[in-house]
Amino acid sequence: MSHFPPELFFSPHKTFGPLRYKIFSSPHKYAQGKGIIQYLGLFVKPLQGDTAVVVCSPSRQSSVGRSIEESLTKHGAAKQVVFVNFGGECSWEELENVNNQLKGKVKGKPAFIVAVGGGKAVDLVRALAHQLDVQLAVVPTLASNDAPCAACSVFYKPDGKFDEYVYYPTDPYCVIVDSEIIAKAPKRYLVSGMGDAMSTYYEADACMRASYGINPVGGRPTEAAVALAKLCRDLLFEYGVQAVKDIDRGEVTEAIEKIIEANTLLSGLGFESGGLAAAHAIHNGLTAHEGSHEYIHGEKVAFSTIVQLCMEQKLDEAKKVAKFFVQVGLPVCLSDLGISASDLQGIQLVSERSCASGESIYNMPFKVTPDMVRENILSADKIGVSVKGQ
Ligand SMILES: [Zn+2]
Repeated sequence: MSHFPPELFFSPHKTFGPLRYKIFSSPHKYAQGKGIIQYLGLFVKPLQGDTAVVVCSPSRQSSVGRSIEESLTKHGAAKQVVFVNFGGECSWEELENVNNQLKGKVKGKPAFIVAVGGGKAVDLVRALAHQLDVQLAVVPTLASNDAPCAACSVFYKPDGKFDEYVYYPTDPYCVIVDSEIIAKAPKRYLVSGMGDAMSTYYEADACMRASYGINPVGGRPTEAAVALAKLCRDLLFEYGVQAVKDIDRGEVTEAIEKIIEANTLLSGLGFESGGLAAAHAIHNGLTAHEGSHEYIHGEKVAFSTIVQLCMEQKLDEAKKVAKFFVQVGLPVCLSDLGISASDLQGIQLVSERSCASGESIYNMPFKVTPDMVRENILSADKIGVSVKGQ
């Protein structure tokens, strides 16, 4: 189903044809810290106009809506602020719903749009901003994934199954992360973000090693992107366990600040400019299995990262990563994701879906088949089970 005229979209994989340029992409500005939401208006002031639109769920509106509205008007970024409700899924149906609400509330084009929420909200509002041709400011309320800094959205079907990636020509104007808001969210989200972030280096590294590997902005990875991805992984190993302890106390500590930056900035720049590979494709495959539906993105990416490392025969690294995941409470085996290891038919479906045409799994530096994915899902499961038992 096509929802936008195709010419509106940037096709990174087609734009440069067989040419292989290095491309690095990022938001104009990233800012992070305790209480920074009060300065949102300053960051978006260059975009100033009559009306700013803020898209968020009703619960976000009641928790942070007032601070956002005050900041935008106080700093002169907008004369009025209009709130639009986000219903929870990044789907084509929800985009239409949000668009209809907006048309009823705002005449003409808003000065800019602010996306407030988790990855799905950000991804949905990114599509809306692109459709309206206005700049986007992102205020993540969770550090559960690498969506905030990116120039692409993951669309899902209304039933939660992966639908498609949609690419845009520009990244968000700014990403403003209030660590106090992130630290108040349930622990599961920060932990899930670590699963998503851990895949970043291994995927960028695989994409770099494959001479044909292309990142989501249509270029070869830069050295900078791979270095940022590596720093992301190193921060997780160094501060991840401490951050989990700290978040139980609801305090914003040094470890939490490091992990927010790893999950949001480093993982975001690392995947977009470094490239995705097997782990995210296997995540997409997992979404086709009913059992995994109650698990969030980074939880599925965590297990998928162990699968990718098995595909690369990096078994020591796979065990090290699995051990870390067990320490912070991320899934390391199939049963952790609601899938039985004896459900061979289900695992076959996941493997085939992981190898769908156009998937990032073809950025791996060797030939990949559904059989290979299936075998390595089972090997990763065995590693996960054994590490958990230690
Ligand atoms: Zn991800």
